[in-house]
Formats: sequence, structure tokens, C-alpha cells
Amino acid sequence: MTRINTVLGSISSGDLGITLVHEHCVIGFPGWEWDPLCGPPNRKEIVQACLKVLEPAKACGLQSIVEVTPSDLSRDVDVMKEVSEKSQINIICSTGKYTEENGVWPYLKWRNQLKLGDLETDLYDLFIQEITSGIGQSGVKAGAIKVATSLNRIAPCEEAVLRAAARAGNETGVPVITHTEDGTMGPEQAEILMAEGMKPKRIMIGHMCGNPSLDYQRAVLNKGVSIAFDRFGIEIFLSDEMRLKTLLALLGEGFAESIMLSHDYVGASFGRGGLWPEHMLPQVANWSYFHIFHNIIPAFKKAGITDEQIRTMIIDNPRRLLGGE
Ligand SMILES: [Zn+2]
Repeated sequence: MTRINTVLGSISSGDLGITLVHEHCVIGFPGWEWDPLCGPPNRKEIVQACLKVLEPAKACGLQSIVEVTPSDLSRDVDVMKEVSEKSQINIICSTGKYTEENGVWPYLKWRNQLKLGDLETDLYDLFIQEITSGIGQSGVKAGAIKVATSLNRIAPCEEAVLRAAARAGNETGVPVITHTEDGTMGPEQAEILMAEGMKPKRIMIGHMCGNPSLDYQRAVLNKGVSIAFDRFGIEIFLSDEMRLKTLLALLGEGFAESIMLSHDYVGASFGRGGLWPEHMLPQVANWSYFHIFHNIIPAFKKAGITDEQIRTMIIDNPRRLLGGE
């Protein structure tokens, strides 16, 4: 068993148990800090909001979550620490960067343009720092690297992130977890990461449930990497019924050992109002940290998916991804 960095210190990979591999406690899209119409964040309310939705998941046996907020979406490790202490759920936090369009790049671009630094080297250095020394003054070490690419393309900054992440992941033994837009650019992400030496089993290509094409799913899986069906409960772009249909087909083809599950749930958000407009709320009515346990796993069982296959997806695969065994 390997040691895994959590926000409260390291644990054995054997103690991860049931793990959701792509969730968030709190996020904020860059710019909320300068919105004069939103008051200062209420830390207590944010923690309470996360705990309220975590409790029912814990009652179903949830033991660990991978919190994949990159630094430029207002990742808040102090919130994660408090949520982990109070819920007694392991939280593995991430280093990493968001997309070129929606992340924060001016500082690194400036350094790169004026040759004060090299973009890929700067990224590699900061990932290594956050994994081995810790994030800011918190003492919390990242246990995963989050990378992201755009819809149907990989922008230059995103490619630098992929290359730096693979090198840092390889060196430190932490996995790379990706964000794809609607499940596009999965094979390309895998190719770049593997070209830099990242082992396929330490790569999880995310948001693949956004792409209902079985040929596309197979194209990614045949690279040897794992994939995540990690947006259960967000029925704005795609229904859970569609996600289930694709997933059941892949399980039928014997891919259980390469698939992980999650919700991409966001416990609270910084800024004004919530994440979704009122009229969309019915399409996220089930979105939570517990939807998979309450609704998706029962649907699996009805479809004839075995307990062993379910265990593989929610316990064994996350342990292998995070711990490397
Ligand atoms: Zn996410």
C-alpha cells in the first residue's frame, strides 16, 4: 500500500475505501473576487453546505473524495480541511490548472513572453511544490494533478499543463485527472500525457460521460487509461439515462476495471447567487454527493451489474489510480 496525501495528512491507499474521484467543495470562476455586489464569503455557511450533502453519502459508506478544484478556480484547502475534520471523510486535494479560456493565465503568460520563465517549467515547478512541500502556508500537500482542455482543441497553455503534469506526476507518483469539454480530446490528452512518460493506469480522462459515442469511448479506453463517468446528476446537457446506457454497454464489453464514478458536485460557490439559473434547477434536482448511492447503483443492480463490478468502480479503481497498485 502506498501513502496518499489528504488534506489532513497522509493515509494508506488501503484506507481509501469507497471513493468519489471528481468532486468539489467550493469553487469560484475567476473574477468573482472583484464583484462588489457579492459580500465576503461566509466560511461557516460554505462548510455547512458541504457537510449537509456529504452526510447522506457517508451514511451510504462513502469514505474518500478527490477534490479536483484547480488553483485558479479559487481552490480553498482551509474549507476542505474543516469539511474533512467534521465529516471524517478523507479529502484528497489537487494541484493543477483550468482551461486557457476560463483559468487564470496572465502571470504565467507574462513570464513566458518576457522569458522570465518557461511556461512548462513554471507549471512543473509549481505542481512539484504543491505536491511535495504543500499549498501556500497550509501545510496541505496535493494528492492529484488536475488538467483541462477546451472543446475540440488543446490550447497552447493546456498542452504545457499536460506535459508538465505528466512529468510531475511521474516523478512524485500522483495521478493526473483530466477535464474534457463534453468528452472531447480524450485520446489526445492520453497521448500527450503518455508521451511524457505518464503510466496509463495513473491517468483518468474525465467527463467522458458527456460523449455518448461508444466508438469514441473505446478509442480512449484502448489507450490503456481509465475514464470517469463523473457528472451524474447534471442533466442539463445530457440525461443520466443516456450516461447509464453508454456505461452499461461499456461494462458489457468488460471495461469495469477502467471506469470510475462521480458527480462533479459543487458544495458551494463563491460569487453572487448560485451556479445555475432558476429554470435549470429541475435538471440538477438529483445532483449531490449521494446521487450515485441512492439512484445510480440501484439502477446498475436492476440492469444486472454485479456487486463485484460496482466495487471495482468505486473502491479498487480509485485505489489503483491514487496509489498506483
Ligand atoms: Zn469538476
